[in-house]
Amino acid sequence: MWDKLGAALLGAAVGACWAEARAQRAAINVLLTFDESSFRCKQEIGAGEGGACHHRYCCVHNVQRIVDCLDGARICIDICIYIFSCKLLAQAVKRAHNRGVVVRIIADYDMAYNNGSRICHLYEQGIKIKSKNSNKLMHHKFCIIDDSSRIIEIYGKNPNVTVMKYFLHRINQQHGGILVAGSLNWTNQAVYGNWEHVLITTHSPIVKLFQSEFNELWKNFKEFQPY
Ligand SMILES: [Zn+2]
Repeated sequence: MWDKLGAALLGAAVGACWAEARAQRAAINVLLTFDESSFRCKQEIGAGEGGACHHRYCCVHNVQRIVDCLDGARICIDICIYIFSCKLLAQAVKRAHNRGVVVRIIADYDMAYNNGSRICHLYEQGIKIKSKNSNKLMHHKFCIIDDSSRIIEIYGKNPNVTVMKYFLHRINQQHGGILVAGSLNWTNQAVYGNWEHVLITTHSPIVKLFQSEFNELWKNFKEFQPY
């Protein structure tokens, strides 16, 4: 009887925490836009004063929003990007990797060796990277952070981690998975001088569509081989 009562109480407590955590998680739907004048804010990068800027296309604010998403990652980051040379974003990815976040990157094969590309450096840090030698471009630009299906996939491979630990992690999270996607290559040129857009959303059905596509690409692409 006491076993049953204990189980019921535990179930109720977990249920209450779960419901509270869900209520606390605020939905995020943000559109970041860049234009040819974004470079005006370039000198602010690193100065930590971007928050006060009212420039509609402030690259400092925009890049910081993406960095915040990466810095908020708890379990996993999947990045699918044509060109990756932006130092601030590369540093955020490296920070995530160093705190134990499981990072995977799919990059364009040719652009990975482009001047300024951070791909080889991130590979040397131990981050898993895949690409495909093709005469077509791997032109996607999207990133998924902490999607629940990917978290379960990661934990499922570790017999020492229980389902309860998974739920506790979820309860500790401020939000569910996040998608960062748009026209923006993660390059200085794109950030400081192009008309670009980036959508950041926690809308779960959309996040899951992109996670599913990433998984499909990951299956079909090959391990990155630096020269
Ligand atoms: Zn600004």
